Amino acid sequence: MSLAIATLGAPRIGPRRELKFALEAYWAGRLCEAELLDTAARLRAANWRDQAARGVTVIPSNDFSLYDQVLDTAALVGAVPDAYGWSGGPLSLQSYFAMARGADGGACGCGGSHAAGVAALEMTKWFDTNYHYLVPEFTAGQRFSLASTKPVDEFREAKALGIHTRPVLVGPVTFLKLGKAAGGFDPLTLLDRLLPVYVDVLKLLAAHGADWVQIDEPILATDLDDTARAALERAYGLIASAVPKLKVMLASYFGPLADNLDLALSLPAAGLHLDLVRGRADLAAIDGRVPAGKRLSLGVVDGRNVWRADLDALLDLLRPIVARRGLDHLELAPSCSLLHVPHDVEAETDLDPETRSWLAFGRQKMDELVALGKALESGPEAAAGAIAASRDVRQSRRTSPRVIRSDVRARLAAVTPAMARRKSPFAARSPVQQARFGLPAFPTTTIGSFPQTAEVRRARQAFGKGALTEAAYRDLLKAEAAACIGWQEEIGLDVLVHGEFERNDMVQYFGERLDGFAFTRHGWVQSYGSRCVRPPILYGDVARPEPMTVDWWRHAQSLTAKPVKAMLTGPVTILNWSFVRDDLPRDVVCRQIALSLRDEVADLEAAGAAMIQIDEAALREGLPIRAAERGGYLDWAVESFRLTASGVADATQIHTHMCYSEFNDIIASIAAMDADVISIECSRSKMELLAAFADFHYPNDIGPGVYDIHSPRVPPAGEMARLIRAALVRLPAERIWINPDCGLKTRGWPEVRAALVNMVAAARQLRAEAAGA
Ligand code: GLN
Ligand code: ZN
Repeated sequence: MSLAIATLGAPRIGPRRELKFALEAYWAGRLCEAELLDTAARLRAANWRDQAARGVTVIPSNDFSLYDQVLDTAALVGAVPDAYGWSGGPLSLQSYFAMARGADGGACGCGGSHAAGVAALEMTKWFDTNYHYLVPEFTAGQRFSLASTKPVDEFREAKALGIHTRPVLVGPVTFLKLGKAAGGFDPLTLLDRLLPVYVDVLKLLAAHGADWVQIDEPILATDLDDTARAALERAYGLIASAVPKLKVMLASYFGPLADNLDLALSLPAAGLHLDLVRGRADLAAIDGRVPAGKRLSLGVVDGRNVWRADLDALLDLLRPIVARRGLDHLELAPSCSLLHVPHDVEAETDLDPETRSWLAFGRQKMDELVALGKALESGPEAAAGAIAASRDVRQSRRTSPRVIRSDVRARLAAVTPAMARRKSPFAARSPVQQARFGLPAFPTTTIGSFPQTAEVRRARQAFGKGALTEAAYRDLLKAEAAACIGWQEEIGLDVLVHGEFERNDMVQYFGERLDGFAFTRHGWVQSYGSRCVRPPILYGDVARPEPMTVDWWRHAQSLTAKPVKAMLTGPVTILNWSFVRDDLPRDVVCRQIALSLRDEVADLEAAGAAMIQIDEAALREGLPIRAAERGGYLDWAVESFRLTASGVADATQIHTHMCYSEFNDIIASIAAMDADVISIECSRSKMELLAAFADFHYPNDIGPGVYDIHSPRVPPAGEMARLIRAALVRLPAERIWINPDCGLKTRGWPEVRAALVNMVAAARQLRAEAAGA
């Protein structure tokens, strides 16, 4: 008797981001296809061998991807839109990457019809993670066919290395639900056409010796309507009858199954994986309801966060289940694929040893699962070392003065509701601010950052390596800010910014200056394709030892008579882009960040800053998957923002910025943030977002972005003026600001200059029209 240990999926970018570098070299023409594929094969082999060596017994295959597993699924079932010129047969690597990244005319090389170039598929967030997938596109006449043998190839590749794997597939219902249908029909109507292709793949896998497959249907952790429930029943009924030999581990993750639990248990799959980190409540609910013989995969180790598990608590949780169900019908696993955590804590040799001892990345999580398995099989002595280490970690995190700070706790306990309210309502603040600033109608401004040139980046690197002194680095940044101020005055912007040249990243910059955050060297996680992020690790109570941005603001304001808007990243965004401690509720952590930022706001105001922008780029991303939980999240998110922003006088103008336009459903919360001015993304959707304002009267000032900074294109003034006129249909002229739709740091100076000159011209045109009217 032995307990199976699974991983559901391993980190795949490589311990030193080998896949990223190989992909980018391939795209740049510096690596040939064979070399790229060879790197990929080596990474897969290393992952399989590592898992086997650590004692993982259910090792996944087809969890690897050159770009994205949803794109792989589209390629597998032949869901390739016509634009990519595919006409059957295996999809070329060029066409695959054209779907992922777009292609210039002729670059695709498929000989197909898109000589004029083709755009990438749309990309969006994978549930509530920071991983992004490519959105499959379906047409009403959509046909599917088996267009790739990737799952079989990778199964055989592992087999050739002597490793028997359990292939992973994105499930058919999740795949369809995540896609978008041209014309807006329900993609689930395509299920009957899609299922035969899944049956083909599964039969092939069985023919090559697979006994189990893992089919991921995270859609089970979302609110499902009857159509989706019926689709799941149909899909798994058909698969069970068409490929009876192959056992299916149906995997759901990212939340509890809750009301979908009975459905999930009733589907004719040989196994069911439960996320018992976010869906702990499911465990009590399934008691006595699991059909005999069904294997349960217990996702007990957090696949979304980086803390060492509490092995004692998990053993207490697991022992009764083992006693009831026996080892043979159970499997231990992370809550979800380990794709969402970095590879290996051992690589973090620069991290202070105490902090490092608290962390578990992909490899350590595998070790934890193996230790749990041993303890359950043979008693705790079999994993005595791991259990003792886990106790030490708990003890150290509970008592470290860096984790729990009584000053921070006391301050939070003393927060009053009044602290999250401005002194007067907007209607009273607005005239005071207008009198103070005397801005023209349609005031122009930017979102904060200006181009981070190669020179600035090089200087930062040199400073980081010690090759440039701090004084020299600061002088260079100050000169850059001074030039930026002069430049903004010259083109006639009304509200200026210092340019954010000192910031490596909008979260990291603040995390590095706050107590309670740690940073890794190699803790990369795939965000999309070759893009990785290295989230800060928020381990302790948050406090601000000293002002973080005041000197930069003061320097910039000293150079101009126009108002310089100070720039901060908001508490919700800092929280949502970090790995957050698991020993405090997220809303409490968020309020701690808010209090630190509130002090920064106060210091800025005291230094003379009259406008302060608090960016909440990631507020919407934190929205829970289930509708029932959204209200609670929005309440504390909005409150945290207000706690940051509300300590100032009526005459101080608070701005915020959000880089997205899908907020029709959260517009009331956005208004409740009560920023004096909000700038939002709008230009890509051609002001469609403003539909939200048809039914909802947004009371404060608003700057609907008039040009798309994600593209190098310079829109003419007339085009921007048209967008503003479209906005005027929904918003009163006296509330409108004119700005781009996000920061300019990724753009080049020449295009930024041209675009902002046009933007200022557009604002002048509108002022003239308003004066003439
Ligand atoms: N102030 C930031 C900037 O301009 C905002 C970035 C963002 O919203 N992503 O870069
Ligand atoms: Zn933005």
